[in-house]
Formats: sequence, C-alpha cells, structure tokens
Amino acid sequence: MKLYVFLILSFFSMQNCAQKKVDLTKPQQQTTMEDNTHANNPYYSRTDKTKLNVSNEEWKKILAPEVYAIAREANTEYPFTGKYNDFDEVGEYYCAVCGNHLFRSTSKFASTCGWPSFFEADKDGVIYKRDSSHGMERIEVLCKRCDSHLGHVFNDGPPPTGTRYCMNSVSLDFQRDKK
Ligand SMILES: [Zn+2]
Repeated sequence: MKLYVFLILSFFSMQNCAQKKVDLTKPQQQTTMEDNTHANNPYYSRTDKTKLNVSNEEWKKILAPEVYAIAREANTEYPFTGKYNDFDEVGEYYCAVCGNHLFRSTSKFASTCGWPSFFEADKDGVIYKRDSSHGMERIEVLCKRCDSHLGHVFNDGPPPTGTRYCMNSVSLDFQRDKK
C-alpha cells in the first residue's frame, strides 16, 4: 500500500514538473512579442535600410512561430483576428521581421475585409510580386528590406489612391507617436 501511494505521489509531482516547464517557456515568448524589443533578432532595425539576405532556416530560429508562418511562408491570419484590424492609434507601422518602415497611420482606413488596410505604403518600404497561388491573380506585397510577406494589394481602395493594401497584423509592428 505504501508503495502504491508513493507511486501515485511521484506521478503527480512529475506532472507538476512538466507543467512548470511549459509555463516557463510561454511568458518568455509572449514578452518578446508584446514589448517589441526584438532582443533575439540581430537583424531588426528601424534605421538600417541595408537589404537583408537571411535564409528561412535562420529566420525560423529567430522569429515567433506565428510570425514565421505568415511572414516567411506567406500564410494569412484569420480575418477579424489581427491586433491592428480594429485599431486607429496614431503612429508608424514597421515590418515585424526586420523593422523597416512600411506605413503611416494616416494612410490606414476602416475596411470591412477583416485585415488592417492602408491606401498608401512607404515607397521605400515595400516591393510587389505577382501571385498566382490559390487559383487567383493577385499582387503580393513584400518588405523591401527582408522580403517578408506582408499581404496583398488591390485596386478597390478609397481616395486619394484607390488602392487597398490588405495586410496581416502579424507582419506589422506599431510604434505610437510620442506626445
Ligand atoms: Zn522586413
């Protein structure tokens, strides 16, 4: 009987250990994502415009899994789920992968598509690529500095440009204007 109780107790204490290990890793990842320090990313800079040539193998070690999946593998976040979809703070938007400047909040508009939308991009921030995937003809928008996938661009936007940059929140970093 004593042995039986001992085994039961051992089993629970092992479970607690395993639980603690999982809990330790979670806050570390979340802190990196939320405070935008990018301490683990040596390529991140909001001033350096030098073109990056970093392999996906390397980015996979640096980026959070959800950032890697969207920015480096061109996945799309679910509509109406992104942190910048319903968001109208005043400031600047940067590439979440490398820190390159992409958009100013004054070019953001309330779109009903479910993703953060802009009518104008920083001309030095983005490049375009034809995308024929998923049976559609679209124009993909990529970061000019690191070639990360940001989203797509369409010609059904509001004045003055008539352009709609449909972006993934995960690919963006926001910096609020200092008052
Ligand atoms: Zn970038």
